[in-house]
Amino acid sequence: MFACGCTTLPRAGRAEPRQGDEIVAAGQFFHTGTRVVLWLDPGGYDAYRVERRFAPFENSDWQSSEAEVKTLTRPNRFGLRRATLTTNEIERVRGGGWDLPLLRRVVDQFVLHFDVAGTSRTCFRVLQDDRDLSVHFLLDLDGTIYQTLDLKECAWHATTSNNRAVGVEIANIGAYPADGPNPFAEWYRTNATSQPVITIPVRFGSGGIRTTNFTGHPARNQPVRGVIQGHELVQYDFTPEQYAALARLTASLCRIFPNLKCRYPVDADGKLIMHKLPDAALKNYQGVLGHYHVQTDKVDPGPAFDWDRVMGGARSLLGLDPLKTAPRPGPLLTPRQRDLRR
Ligand SMILES: [Zn+2]
Repeated sequence: MFACGCTTLPRAGRAEPRQGDEIVAAGQFFHTGTRVVLWLDPGGYDAYRVERRFAPFENSDWQSSEAEVKTLTRPNRFGLRRATLTTNEIERVRGGGWDLPLLRRVVDQFVLHFDVAGTSRTCFRVLQDDRDLSVHFLLDLDGTIYQTLDLKECAWHATTSNNRAVGVEIANIGAYPADGPNPFAEWYRTNATSQPVITIPVRFGSGGIRTTNFTGHPARNQPVRGVIQGHELVQYDFTPEQYAALARLTASLCRIFPNLKCRYPVDADGKLIMHKLPDAALKNYQGVLGHYHVQTDKVDPGPAFDWDRVMGGARSLLGLDPLKTAPRPGPLLTPRQRDLRR
């Protein structure tokens, strides 16, 4: 096109505006229909950089960071998706030179996490400044999606699935043993008559939420109980803004990557699996899944995560039939209630 000599060439130096909803895979932009802030953008979170994002500037460079933070061992917080590539393919794409067809062959899982940080800004600080980790997307309380790396990169968030997975950390303070301590009193203001309000503790300042004066509410008023990896847990739900954005992101990823099926792991009865998948099943699984489906030591995205809301929304955006899944188990019954039901 640039060599055609026709009169439709763009003028040199003309700006090419973006819509503000694009994600990036192998250098190409794809619309999601929901707000996305890229690592390139003002206010974005850039996981390509080797310095710490929130340390005092004079001490943020890699050499100072390596000396000050013992858990930081490598300047790069991501790697190469190389596990299934041939030697020739590795030579072709090393340094970032991926093409979309090859990336489509490799990516077939989308791993969902909650961040236990409460906000995307704190999550990025922990990943980038403290932990030597990374994830492609952060989904904040107000539904803003931050992309920190091109999807061609192997982000470090889900151990054995990293090579084939895209990951998202959803802002939520997490799930806790039903009979143990939790930080809910600090993060949720509740009273008997109204829905709970998410309260970012003052030590985090504004929390970095992109929407001005945003007030967040869990999608359900009561904490949700459920059993994951055999442990009874309790967790406040995600926000409606997060569910809406995640449905759009999921639909977009399933359209970009044909091997990433728009489904979640279910048992023979069509019920959501609530524990790590057996190794062989995980190896064969292509679709959306939780971190707890990958590792026995994880419980995210937790019992409150409404899989049907996200996957139903995503499938509807793709024009697919609703999933034929069994209804979710209801709230856990107390022994007394169980006795009454018998
Ligand atoms: Zn996780």
